[in-house]
Amino acid sequence: MVEVSVETTFRNPSRSRRQEWQRATHILRECKQWLVDGWEDGTLASSVTTGDIDNPLYSALQNQAIRSAKSDSDGNSVEYTGEQPIEVNNQNWEIHTTDNDSVVIGFPCISDWWYTPIHVHDSIEDPVQALLDGDADKTKLSVWREGDDWHCSFTVEYDEQQTGEKTPIGVDVGHNYILAATPDDASAESFLVSGKEYKFVRRYYRSLRDSLQEAGALRARNHVGNKEYRRIQDANHTLSKRLVAYASQFSNPVIKLEDLESIPDGSEWHGIHSWPFYELQQFITYKAQKAGIRVEKIDPKNTSQECSQCGELVGRDGSKFACPHCGYVRHADLNAAENISQREGDPCTA
Ligand SMILES: [Zn+2]
Repeated sequence: MVEVSVETTFRNPSRSRRQEWQRATHILRECKQWLVDGWEDGTLASSVTTGDIDNPLYSALQNQAIRSAKSDSDGNSVEYTGEQPIEVNNQNWEIHTTDNDSVVIGFPCISDWWYTPIHVHDSIEDPVQALLDGDADKTKLSVWREGDDWHCSFTVEYDEQQTGEKTPIGVDVGHNYILAATPDDASAESFLVSGKEYKFVRRYYRSLRDSLQEAGALRARNHVGNKEYRRIQDANHTLSKRLVAYASQFSNPVIKLEDLESIPDGSEWHGIHSWPFYELQQFITYKAQKAGIRVEKIDPKNTSQECSQCGELVGRDGSKFACPHCGYVRHADLNAAENISQREGDPCTA
């Protein structure tokens, strides 16, 4: 775990909220002075609660004022001279992203919770992103004024592993090539495995079943089904293991999978025959998470038709993808994997 202090300023807080925050800093000064004086002259019990405090602040602020006055006084007399920062503990403030990509911080004050955008400089981008991703813990929030600017600060705790640039890796599961995986970078090593073995297993056992059926050997025929199932399951285990090893070579890999759509009617993998794909995705998710790699599911719409470089809808020509708009040429399944790597996903659990 690393601990990073984050300090920044609010972006253009409105006049009404600045006035309210300003008022709160004065109330907090009075409140904390009243507390330390009361403890010093013995008129207040040290077990004082927000119920004993008579001011219009949210109780989250009153609570933090008690804590901070306690640690300030520590048996000594204290004179608070300036405005006191607004402080709330980790559970009483929020940080999130708005629809237009601003990062806002929300905390209670007097009349309400205020949600205000903050400046996210390069130097605080990593810890802020870790918080937004839910990969980090935050501490108490402090808010104070300096000249015309309103500042805030807090500490973020997170795994170092989670920091730094992420590498999204798109994984396309298909029937010609059972697996195609790549980050969105044509110069990086890609991962492409033909579906030949799966097709072979399927056809081999199908013809075996057919001939046993003709011979009327029902038990032997069912036995063939189990053997086929085990061979595909073995192949899925091996393949998912290789894929996770492949993904691990990149820094902070995030595996992105498609939410599998129904397989087209004409395919021999249609309907109940599509289980190998679902199982393969399941094994990948499970093994990746065991290796500490995040897995996300994305919307599969047009992943194999879109050009990963210019976004035009083109369509594939067998295993070849050639874009007439920008000239991009790529293996069709790797173009699909690049599209998958670019999409926003939802976290996915095994
Ligand atoms: Zn293109």
